[in-house]
Amino acid sequence: METKVVHTHTGKIYFNPLMGLEFLTVGDYGKENNIKADFLGLTKKIDGVQHHDVNIQDKWVATISTQKGCPMKCTFCDVHKYGFFGNASMLDLEYQIRYIIEHEDVRFTNRFNVHYARMGEPTWNPSVLEFTEHRLDALVRECGLHAVTIHPVISTMMPANNERLAEFLQKWCEIKNVLRHGEAGLQLSINSTSDEQRSAQFAGKSLNLEEIAAIANALPTPVGRKYTLNFAVTEQTVLDATKLDQLFDKQKFIVKITPIHQTTAASENGYNITTTYDNYSVYDQFEKPLLDLGWDVIVFVPSKEEDSDRITCGNALISYAPKPFSESAERE
Ligand code: SF4
Repeated sequence: METKVVHTHTGKIYFNPLMGLEFLTVGDYGKENNIKADFLGLTKKIDGVQHHDVNIQDKWVATISTQKGCPMKCTFCDVHKYGFFGNASMLDLEYQIRYIIEHEDVRFTNRFNVHYARMGEPTWNPSVLEFTEHRLDALVRECGLHAVTIHPVISTMMPANNERLAEFLQKWCEIKNVLRHGEAGLQLSINSTSDEQRSAQFAGKSLNLEEIAAIANALPTPVGRKYTLNFAVTEQTVLDATKLDQLFDKQKFIVKITPIHQTTAASENGYNITTTYDNYSVYDQFEKPLLDLGWDVIVFVPSKEEDSDRITCGNALISYAPKPFSESAERE
């Protein structure tokens, strides 16, 4: 079965049901258009993002799957509807990056971001570490792409029953801080400072906040960009800035605020996702108390086109394709 392509306003989504992989390639509108971050001098409130053409020579984002489906059950995410069929292998990771690069004409970019964030929870897959440490940069060169900066990023929802989670994150930080001299990202999905609300969002499969803070505070001081605490919000989100400030170190972490995206699961599970794209006041209520406490905060707003294209986190076109795997191949 061939890899299928869906064209979007800013790039392409690829999926291959036989391989159990979905991945995407997109450009970016530019941070002055879709980000408010006072500490970076980007102080304009983002009351909606206008779509315009993007140029992947400026910034190219490759988002790939680390697992075939996902064993988690986050209630805002469509990925687990596909089921779970194991980890992506080294060859699967390589396939996705190679496919993305070889299906564009562009052979130069200022920045090639690799997000391990389409399907799966990356900390379950040790190949993510091996691939980033030993294969990614050489592979990009082999594919003929000259990227001034290659910036891999993992986002984790901090799974509760992963005994090797802390070890994985320590290794990732070594890759970021030592091997890549800061040129990598680490994002922890927090989403709420209420353990009750978190439990509902992550279906009881994420550590509680104090457990996350213990692991986070044991991480080394970041080189380059600080680590990120992600908050995907709706108006109902609980973000207690004082509590967050007590639990996490603002010298090591920034907070990133985005809307919860308009996935099928988010609609089915009653998330209020209707107001969050063109009214900055939704974000203001979360951003201001953190700024007052001295935190660095990024507010990232997608365009309506990006969300309707389903390139945003929590979407998976493959969930609606026929499954080539037998039911017995499905894992717990
Ligand atoms: S948000 Fe991430 S960890 Fe949660 S179900 Fe979706 S892909 Fe899995």
